[in-house]
Amino acid sequence: MFAQLPDKPDHPALELEMLDVWEREQTFEQLRARNRGGPAWSFVDGPVTANKSLAVHTAWGRTLKDVFQRYKAMRGFDQRYQNGYDCQGLWIEVGVERELGLNSKREIEEFGLEEFARRCRDVVVRSSTELTRGSQRLGQWMDWGNDYFTFSDTNIEYIWKFLKRVHEQGWLYLGHRSTEWCPRCGTSISQHELTGSYVDRADPSLYVRFPLLDRPGESVVVWTTTPWTLPANVAAAVNPEADYGRRLNGEWVAAPRYPDERFGEILKGADLVGWRYRGPFDALPAASGVEHRVIPWDEVTLDEGTGIVHIAPGCGREDFELSRVNDLPVITPVDEAGRFYDDFGWLHGLSTVESAEQIIGHLEEQGTLVEAGLYEHRYPECWRCHTPLIFRIADDWFISVEELRPRLIDANATVEWVPAYFEKRMEDWLRNMGDWNISRRRYYGLPLPLYPCSCGHLNVIGSKGELRERALEGFDQLQELRRPWVDRVPIRCEQCGERVERIPEVGDVWLDAGIVPFSTLGWESREWVNEGYATGAAKGLTKADLPDHAYWETWFPADWVSEMREQIRLWFYSQLFMSVVLVGRAPFRRVLGYEKMFDENGREMHGSWGNMINAEDAFAQMGADVMRWQYCQQPPTQDLWFGFGPAHEIKRRLLTFWHSVKFLVDYGNIEGFAPSWAKLEPDVELRPLDRWLVARTQQLVAEATDGYEATLTVDVVRAFEAFVDDVSNWYIRRSRRRFYSFDEAAFRALWFALVQSLRVIAPVMPFLADHLWRNLVRDGPASVHLAPWPEAVEADAQLLAEIAEVRRVVELGRQARSSSQLKLRQPLRRLVVAGASTVAHGHADEIADELRVKEVEFGEVEASELRVKPNLPVLGPKLGAALRDVRERLARGEFEELDGGKFAVDGHVLEPHEVLVERVGREGWAVASDAGLTVALDTAIDDELLLEARLLDRVHEVNVLRRETGLQLTDRIRLWLPDEDLIERYRDRIAQETLALEVLPGPLRIEKA
Ligand SMILES: [Zn+2]
Ligand SMILES: [Zn+2]
Repeated sequence: MFAQLPDKPDHPALELEMLDVWEREQTFEQLRARNRGGPAWSFVDGPVTANKSLAVHTAWGRTLKDVFQRYKAMRGFDQRYQNGYDCQGLWIEVGVERELGLNSKREIEEFGLEEFARRCRDVVVRSSTELTRGSQRLGQWMDWGNDYFTFSDTNIEYIWKFLKRVHEQGWLYLGHRSTEWCPRCGTSISQHELTGSYVDRADPSLYVRFPLLDRPGESVVVWTTTPWTLPANVAAAVNPEADYGRRLNGEWVAAPRYPDERFGEILKGADLVGWRYRGPFDALPAASGVEHRVIPWDEVTLDEGTGIVHIAPGCGREDFELSRVNDLPVITPVDEAGRFYDDFGWLHGLSTVESAEQIIGHLEEQGTLVEAGLYEHRYPECWRCHTPLIFRIADDWFISVEELRPRLIDANATVEWVPAYFEKRMEDWLRNMGDWNISRRRYYGLPLPLYPCSCGHLNVIGSKGELRERALEGFDQLQELRRPWVDRVPIRCEQCGERVERIPEVGDVWLDAGIVPFSTLGWESREWVNEGYATGAAKGLTKADLPDHAYWETWFPADWVSEMREQIRLWFYSQLFMSVVLVGRAPFRRVLGYEKMFDENGREMHGSWGNMINAEDAFAQMGADVMRWQYCQQPPTQDLWFGFGPAHEIKRRLLTFWHSVKFLVDYGNIEGFAPSWAKLEPDVELRPLDRWLVARTQQLVAEATDGYEATLTVDVVRAFEAFVDDVSNWYIRRSRRRFYSFDEAAFRALWFALVQSLRVIAPVMPFLADHLWRNLVRDGPASVHLAPWPEAVEADAQLLAEIAEVRRVVELGRQARSSSQLKLRQPLRRLVVAGASTVAHGHADEIADELRVKEVEFGEVEASELRVKPNLPVLGPKLGAALRDVRERLARGEFEELDGGKFAVDGHVLEPHEVLVERVGREGWAVASDAGLTVALDTAIDDELLLEARLLDRVHEVNVLRRETGLQLTDRIRLWLPDEDLIERYRDRIAQETLALEVLPGPLRIEKA
C-alpha cells in the first residue's frame, strides 16, 4: 500500500520531516560512503562573508552548488563537499564598529585592538552558525563542521608563501600614488572594489576665476564639483589645440563652449601655457609659495565646464600623473580620515564635505566665485560604508601585473565559462586592470608579512616557521597569526641584522579567498595534518584537516566553481591570479556565473524599502523546494526577479505533478498495485499510449542529463515541466478509465514514468522528490538520493514526434473552440486538420475524443482570409533594411503560402517561427493556426448535439455530487435524474460514467448502492 496523499503538499512541514529522516538515516553519509573511491569531481566553494544570516540572494548560489553536487553524486562521483567562510576584512570591521558605536580609527585604537579582533571573530562565529543552519534548511548537503575559515593561521601562511613568491619575482612594490580613498574607513579602495559602487549624487558645481598675474584684469575660469580640492590647486590645464576666448570682462574660457558669446580676443590653448595666476588659497600656509600656472594637457575635453581644468595633484589620479610630467608640487590637503591638515589654517579639522560651504563663502568674499550651483552625477562611494570616496595620495603595496597579464589571459582561455560571454568579460578585465593594490590601512585582516628595513631591504616572511626563526621577541605570545599579536613580533633584517617591524597594513580580503584552492587542498604540504587547517582564529570552529600534496594533485584544479557575475573581478580573478603565480595555470576548468537578483517587480531589494525577503520567511511561506525551483528555472544570463508571486505560480505547477502522483497512489491502493524496483521497466504488454509514455520518460532523462551536463538548471526545469504536462494532460487524461480497474500496463507505465522523473528532478527539489520516492518505491534504495542516475536510453523518436503533433492539433482545436465561445462540454460535428503529417492520421479517434467532435478530417481548410505579419524580434535581425518592404507586401497580401507553414515574399522564404499567422474561418467555422498547422472546427449545432451537451452537463453534475457526498472513487450508486429524454437515449452511458447501478426518473438525487 502507498501512503495516502493530501490534496496538496505542505512544503515547509514536509521539508522539516525530510530533514529529520535524513539525519536519522544518515542519508548523506551513506551517499558519501557509497561514492568514496569513485571518480573525483572537484568543486571548490567560494567563501561567503560570515557577517550575516542566510539571505535569499546567498541561497541562490548555494542552491546551484547543491544541485550539481547532488547530480554528480547520483552519478557516483566522489566529492569533497567543503563549505567555506570568509572571515576578515572591512565588511566585518565596519559592522563591529557600528555595533560598538565607534566612528573612527582613533576610536578603534582607544577601544583596544585585541578586544576589537575578538569582537570581529565573535561576528564570524555567530554568523557562520546562522549561515550553516540556513543552508541546511535549504537542503544543502555539505561537510558541515569541516568548513574552511579564511582567518585560519594556515590560510594566512599560504598567502604569506604566495607573497614571498611574488616578491622573489620582483613584482611587489610600494607605490606612491593617488588612489580612491574612503575617509570614514581611512583606507584606500582597490580598483576591483569599485565595481558597482557608483551612485547618483548632487554635488556643488563651482565656476571659479583665477586672476592672471601678468595680465591685469584678466583671469582663467575653471569648473569643479569638489570644492575641497581647490586649496590644493597648483595648475590650470588647457587643450593646446583648442581655441580660447577672452570675454569682455577679462575671463578666459574655451570659445567653443560658449558659441553665443562675443570675445575680445581668441588664442590657441598653446598660447595660454605658462601664464601665471594667483591661487584661490595662497594665504594658507600649505599653499603659500606655490607658483600656479597654466599647463597643456591633450586630454582636456570641451564637453563640460569651461574647457580649463583645475589641477590638484594631491586629489586626483590624472592630476597626480600630470604633476610628474609638468614637475608640479603635490599638496595633500586631507589626512586619512579626510580632514584638513593643520597647515590649512581655518580649514583645519574640517571634513571634505563640511568644508564646502566655507570654501564657497571664502571665494565669494574674495570676488573669485563666478557661479555656484548643484550638479547631478554618478560618483563612487565606499562599497562597505557608503561614504563618498575621495582621491588621496597614499603609499600602498602593489603587485605589478604587467608580466603576469599575458599569462592570466592565456590561463583564462583554458576555462569553459557558462554563460560563454563571461569569458570575454574576464578577458576584458584582465586586459585593462591596473596593478593589484593589496594593502589596507585597517586592523581586522590578513597581516601582510612585509618588514621594510631602514637599510632599504624589504624582508618578506613566507611562513610561521620562518617568523619563529627570525623573531626577536613576542613569538611565544602569538595567539593568532593576526593583529595585534603579530605586530608584537619584530624580526631581524636579513640584510643588515637590525630590528625591523611589520608594516601596520592588512591585506585585501580577496587574497584570503583567492588562496583557497591551495590552502584547503594541501598544496606542497609534506604530510597530512589532522585538523591542520583549524589553526589560529579558526581553532574550535572547524575540524578541517590540512591534506598532503598528493591530495592537492587529485583535487586541483576544480572541475567546477559557481558564483555571481560580480565575482569575475573578485573571487574568480583573485583565484586565477594567485594560481597563475603559484603553478602557472587556471584553478578551475569550468565556471557557472549568473546575473543579479531583484524583487519580483524588478526593483533592488532593500531592507529600508520593505521588499527584502528574509530567508526564514521564504522557508516558512514558500518552502525550500519552491525557492530552489525559482532559482533553478532562471536562465543564468538574466536577472532573477525573486518573490512570493512567482513562488505561488511554481506551487501551482508543482501541484499538477503532485496530483499525478496522487492519482497513481489513490487508484493503486484501490487496485492493490504493488510495483517492484527490481522490475522498474514495464515488462508487460503495453498499449501504444503506454509505449509513448515510456519513450517520453526516456526523452526526459536524456534532456535532463543534457541540462545538468551543460550546468543549465533552466533546461532541466523546462524539460521536467513539459514532461509533467504530458503525463497529466495527455497520458492520464487519455488513460483514466484504465485505472478504474486493474490494467497492469497502465499502472506499470505510469509508475515507471513517475519514479524516473523523481530521480531526475531530485537534485533540484530534494525534499519533495524524496518524500514521494519513499512512498512510490517500497523495495528500492531508501532515498531517491541514494538511487543511481537513470541510464539514458535511445527513445523512439518517431513515436514521440507523432504524439507531439497530435497534442499540437488538440491544442489548436482548443484554441479554436475557445475563440468561438462554445462551451467545452458542447459536442461538435466536425474538425478539419490541414498541414499535419500522415502520422497524425492514425490518431483521429483520440483527437475527436479530446475535442468532442464526431469526426476528424485531414485536408484543406478553406479560410476566408489569411493574415500574415512579420515576427519582428526574429525577422528584424535577419532581414535588416529589407524588413520594411517585406512587411508592406505581407500587409497587402502579396505572398505565397508554401508547404510546412512557410511563406514566400519578394524572393525571401519566411520560416514558420518568423511570422504570425491569423486565419479567419468561413462563416460557421472556428479556425486556429500555428507554424504550418491549421485546424477548423465546424460550429454548427443541431438538436442531437444539444442533447448530448445536456447529457455531459448532467454527468458532470452527478460526479460533483458524488465528491461532495464523500463517496469513495469506487462506490456504486443509485441515481435519479429528472431528464427522461436523456435516460431513454443514454441510460447505459450515464450508468457507466457515474458508476450507477440504476438510473431512475425523478428529482436529482444519489444514494450509495
Ligand atoms: Zn568606508
Ligand atoms: Zn636592514
